[in-house]
Amino acid sequence: MVQKKLAVRRGDRVLVLSGKDKGKKGKVITTLPDAGRIKVEGINLIKKHAKPTPKVPQGGIREMEGAFAASKVMVICPACSKPTRVGKKIGADGRRVRSCKRCGESLDK
Ligand SMILES: [Zn+2]
Repeated sequence: MVQKKLAVRRGDRVLVLSGKDKGKKGKVITTLPDAGRIKVEGINLIKKHAKPTPKVPQGGIREMEGAFAASKVMVICPACSKPTRVGKKIGADGRRVRSCKRCGESLDK
């Protein structure tokens, strides 16, 4: 099976482009490449009904991040601090790295 790849990676800071959290920024905490979806810290919070556990005997409702389409965000470039499209280039060590289409800096450390 072909490995699908997202332009967005875990740890990226992203800007949300649409939906109820439009305009918010957050850090990517999970990527689901097969589904083309991501989870971002503090974005798209959903209420989850938790079953009682030994730790939380009363159970109840917890808020947690819900996955949403990775196409709804833009990566924020750490070099120029602006939301950018992601390009590709060959890094100094010969590997393919993601680059900022605005300033050309590598997005991968
Ligand atoms: Zn940049």
